[in-house]
Amino acid sequence: MIELYGWSDALQLAFEPHARAGYVPARVIVQQREADLVVTDVGTLSARLSGRLRHEAREAGHPAAGDWVAVSAKAGEGTATIHAVLPRRTAFVRRAADSVQTLQVIAANIDVVFVVTSMNADLNPRRLERFLAAAWQSGARPVVVLTKADLCEEPERQAAEIATLAVGCPVVVVSARQGQGLRGLMDHIRPGETCVLIGSSGVGKSTLVNALVGEERMATQDIRAADARGRHTTSHRQLILLPGGGLLLDTPGIREVGLIDADEGLGTVFDDIEQLARNCRFRDCGHTTEPGCAVRDALNAGLLEADRWAHFQKLSRELAALDLAKDRAAQVVERRRQAGLQRAYRSTKRDLRDPDS
Ligand code: GDP
Ligand code: ZN
Repeated sequence: MIELYGWSDALQLAFEPHARAGYVPARVIVQQREADLVVTDVGTLSARLSGRLRHEAREAGHPAAGDWVAVSAKAGEGTATIHAVLPRRTAFVRRAADSVQTLQVIAANIDVVFVVTSMNADLNPRRLERFLAAAWQSGARPVVVLTKADLCEEPERQAAEIATLAVGCPVVVVSARQGQGLRGLMDHIRPGETCVLIGSSGVGKSTLVNALVGEERMATQDIRAADARGRHTTSHRQLILLPGGGLLLDTPGIREVGLIDADEGLGTVFDDIEQLARNCRFRDCGHTTEPGCAVRDALNAGLLEADRWAHFQKLSRELAALDLAKDRAAQVVERRRQAGLQRAYRSTKRDLRDPDS
C-alpha cells in the first residue's frame, strides 16, 4: 500500500530506528488542525501527535501533507499516534498567517512542481520568475506548463519564448479542453513521485487537476476515517493517487505559493513608484538623501502620497525579511535533517522505556 505512495529503500533506511521502536511508516494525506489522516499498510487512519511531538511542533511546526511519519497504529479503532517526522527531501515553506517569524511547511516531499501559466493571457515574466523561484526553493524539479494551447495561434513559438525565461526547466504545452499534451505532462513524474501545481488564478489549474485525476475519481477521493474520538468523518484527500502511478498533492495554499511574496510583485500594485524610481539619478538610489532622487521630488511636490510611500517601504522590508527567513529556514531544515537520525536513535531508547510518551 505505502509503495503506491512513494515508499522507497532510502526511506526504509531512514526508518530503521523507528521500526526498532515498533512504529510503522505512514504518509500524511490530509493535514488538519485536529487530527491528520495518514495512509499506512493497514489502511487510512486518523492520527494525532504524541505528547513529545506536539511539544516539538511548537517550534518545528506541525507535520505537513506529504510528510512521512512514524506512527503507532490502532487499526481496529482507525486511529494512530504520530511519534516522529522523517527528514524531508523537499518542502514548500511559507510564513504563518499570524506571525512574521514562524515558517510553516505547507507541502513536503514534492518531486515535481508544475508551474502553470496560460498561453492566452499576456505573460508576466516577473510573475513566472517568482513561481519558478518558489519551485526551485522547495528543492523539487520545476516544469513549466503552458495551458490553453487551443486558444493560441502558434503555441510552439510561445513555448520557445518561455523556454528562454525558464532556463533549465522543461516546457510542456497542454490543452485540458482538448485533452492534448496530458500524456507528455505525466511523463515528467515517475511512479511513486509526487507533484504539485502552482500558478496564478485562472490559468487552468483546477481544470488540469480534473483532467489528470478524472472527474469521477476526484469524487471518490473523499475518504472516511474515524477521528480521534472514534466518530466517522469525511475529508477531502489532499494527496491524490494519479492513474499513471504518480501522486498529486493539492493542499490549501499550495497553488498560490510564491504569490505571497510576489503577488503581481510589488510592481503591479506599486507600478507608479517603480516608474518614478527609474527616474532617479542613481540606479541604486536609496531614496533618502541622494541627489536627483525622483521619489523624494515627487513626495515634496505632493505627487506621491507619503502614506503610500511608507506602505511600499514597509512591504519591501517585509519581502527582504522573508527572503532572509527562507534562507535561514533552509539552514534549519538541513541542521534538523542531520540531527534527525541521532534524535531518532535517542528517542528509540526513550520510547522503549515509555511507549506512550
Ligand atoms: P485555476 O484558477 O487556475 O484553477 O483555473 P481554472 O481551472 O478554474 O480555469 C480557468 C478558466 O480557464 C475556466 O473557465 C476554464 O474552463 C478555462 N480553461 C482551463 N483549461 C482550458 C483549456 O485548456 N482551454 C481553454 N480554452 N480554456 C481552459
Ligand atoms: Zn531615489
